[in-house]
Amino acid sequence: MKLVICEFMDNASVATLAAQFDTLYDPTLVDRRPELLAALADADGLIVRNRTQVDRALLEAATRLRVVGRLGVGLDNIDVPACEARQVAVIPATGANARAVAEYVIGTAMALLRRAYTRSADTAAGNWPRAALSDGCEIAGKTLGLIGFGGIGQLTARLAQSLDIKVIAYDPLIAADAPVWKNTKATPAKLDDLLAQADIVSLHVPLTEQTRHLIDQNALAKMRTSAILINTARGGIVDETALGNALRLGQLGGAAIDVFAHEPLAAGSALSDAPNLILTPHIAGVTTESNVRVSALIAERVAAQLK
Ligand code: NAD
Repeated sequence: MKLVICEFMDNASVATLAAQFDTLYDPTLVDRRPELLAALADADGLIVRNRTQVDRALLEAATRLRVVGRLGVGLDNIDVPACEARQVAVIPATGANARAVAEYVIGTAMALLRRAYTRSADTAAGNWPRAALSDGCEIAGKTLGLIGFGGIGQLTARLAQSLDIKVIAYDPLIAADAPVWKNTKATPAKLDDLLAQADIVSLHVPLTEQTRHLIDQNALAKMRTSAILINTARGGIVDETALGNALRLGQLGGAAIDVFAHEPLAAGSALSDAPNLILTPHIAGVTTESNVRVSALIAERVAAQLK
C-alpha cells in the first residue's frame, strides 16, 4: 500500500510508517500541487498538516485514497463531507498539541501584560527603559474569557486557574448543565458579557460559517480598552483590518496572533505595523514535544486504518 506525506512530520514516525508501507515523504510537495496530485494517483493514504487543500479536485485525482491523516486539529483545509461521500476516513490528532497551544496563550498573555519584549534592543543599547516598563501587570486575578471550550479551551482554563486567573467561557454548543462546567470550575458566559468582562480574550473555536469574523469591529468595541486578544484558532475568525485599527487607535491593550486569513501574512497587511502586537507564524501548536506526539498518534491511527 502506498502512503504520501506532503507536509513535515517527525522523522521517527516517518520511519515507522516506511517500515510498513511504500511511503513517499516529501514536505515540499504541499507547494507543488501538480506533482502532489500525480503522486496521489495510486496512493491509499495521505498525511497533511493545515496547508494542503484536501478538496474535490484532490480527491478526484486520488481514486484509491482510503484515509487522510491530519497532523494537528482543525479540519477547515479538508472537505470532510466530500471525503465521507467517497468513504475516505479523516483522522485528526485530537488533543496531541493542546498543551503547546495552552502554554502559548498563557505565555503571550504574560508577555503582553508586561510589554517587556518590546524594549529588549533599548535595554541592550544601554537606554535603560525602566520607567517606561514599570506599569506592567500581573496575570493573577485577571479574568480570562475563552471563546470555544473544547479540548484546548479546557486545558488553557486549567493552566490559567493554576495561576489564580478567573476563567469564563462562551460555548453555546455545551449545555448550561453539562458536567464540564462543574468539572473545570469555569463559568459559562454570554458572548457580549465575556467580551465586556475579560482582561484576556482567547479564541478556541473552529473556523466555520458561524465563527467567520466573530471578532469584528463590533465585538472589538465591546472589549475593555486594556484587554488583550489572543488568536490561535484560525485567521478568518478575526477581522484583521478591524483589529489593526483598534490597536492603532488604542481601543485595545494588545494582541497575540498566530493564525491569519492568508498565510503567509502578506506584506502591507493591516497587522504588519500595529502596536502592542505579537505575531507568530502558526506555531502555537507546534513544539518539539507536540511534533513527536502528533506524528506518533497519526502514524499509529493511519496505519491501523490502512490495515
Ligand atoms: P475542539 O473541537 O475540541 O473545541 C472547539 C470548541 O468550539 C467546541 O467545544 C465547540 O462546541 C466550540 N464551538 C464550535 N462552534 C462554536 C461557535 N460558533 N461559538 C462558540 N463555540 C463554538 O477543538 P480544539 O482541539 O479545542 O481546537 C480549537 C481550534 O484551535 C481548532 O479548530 C483549530 O482551528 C485551532 N488550533 C490551532 C493550532 C495552532 O497551531 N495555531 C493548533 C491546534 C488547534
